[in-house]
Amino acid sequence: MRLHRPSGRLPGGRRRPREILTVVTADHSPAPDRSSGADERPLGPDAGADLDAEWSRTVKTLAGATEICLACHIRPDADALGSMLAVLLALRARGSARVIASFGDRPFVVPRILRFLPGTELLSPPDAYPERPQVMVTFDAASADRLGLLDAYAARADELIVLDHHASNTRFGTVNLVDPAAAATAVLAFDLVARLGAEITRDIALGLYAGLVTDTGSFKYGGTSPRVHLLAARLLETGIDPGPVAYELWDRSPFAFLGLLSAVLGRAQLERAAAGGRGLVWTTVTRADRARDGLPFDVAESVIDVVRRTEEAEVAVVLKEDGDGRWQVSARSKGAVDVGRACVALGGGGHRMAAGFTAQGPATEVMAALRPQLAAGA
Ligand code: 5GP
Ligand code: MN
Repeated sequence: MRLHRPSGRLPGGRRRPREILTVVTADHSPAPDRSSGADERPLGPDAGADLDAEWSRTVKTLAGATEICLACHIRPDADALGSMLAVLLALRARGSARVIASFGDRPFVVPRILRFLPGTELLSPPDAYPERPQVMVTFDAASADRLGLLDAYAARADELIVLDHHASNTRFGTVNLVDPAAAATAVLAFDLVARLGAEITRDIALGLYAGLVTDTGSFKYGGTSPRVHLLAARLLETGIDPGPVAYELWDRSPFAFLGLLSAVLGRAQLERAAAGGRGLVWTTVTRADRARDGLPFDVAESVIDVVRRTEEAEVAVVLKEDGDGRWQVSARSKGAVDVGRACVALGGGGHRMAAGFTAQGPATEVMAALRPQLAAGA
């Protein structure tokens, strides 16, 4: 099995940033809240500077730029794409800079379930990027390799602003607006839009709301704080109807999906002794499963949400074969096992309860590499 490990080096040609600002903020509301406890929480290696100063550096940089390049992680989910589209629409409303927004996939295809998001028609393929971006902002990417083709552009950017909420974030920017306590990158994107002084229109709110509902598992996961609900309320106030959003994101698929699901669930395996005796359930979604009815890769994304229901298993894993024959692995835990750590050990990333990595080779070998990591994290 081959793992796709991000290299530890600075990508080719990358000049060391003069100054690296790392921000860990607990401020999820539009108005700065100084009672949020941000000062007591562990800060990154370069933190310690006043939070507002970091945010204003970001806002000042964006206000002064004539060209701004936005990028979210490859094979974007609603949090990555919705956050980027919200900021794209806000920057375009200001009108002071040319804005290019993309993600580094080839072929460049917006996932089917995200095509309802306002602003997708404004996206450009990665080739539209300038060789050396003046200002680049990344969304929901925990490490530079998650930018795919745009990794090399990030390495050459004069100013690289990283907006993210992964604890595993490698802080690869010149400014790192990274908050592991944020339920979604959309929370930070909301802050950015608010700090840019842009009006939160319904279209902007829709991208943010899609990110927020997705990353909180429809307000079920651990990070679902009162603040998350307050932000959701603020976004819904713009006129969003949550029903159709949920329908687009989770509640529709072609009839052929039922056949795929039946095959994929039928071959699921339960290993009670795995994950330190807490149990593991896993299955695969192969290219052949999808090819029978011409289903796109993104139909595989929802399979994990069924598999992880298994009450005998602490950990659920789905190996999804992409168009290039690589396994895009999704792992979920119920809290006792840190799947984020396990996936980082295999070159991936994510959170304690939801993480992933990319690998090549027989599925049995991928699982053989993962099992000891899960046992170690139990
Ligand atoms: P999902 O299973 O929904 O694709 O991803 C769950 C979490 O794991 C997300 O936070 C996502 O960013 C992260 N993740 C999934 N696949 C990969 C991967 O191949 N590499 C890295 N670094 N993170 C991943
Ligand atoms: Mn996210």
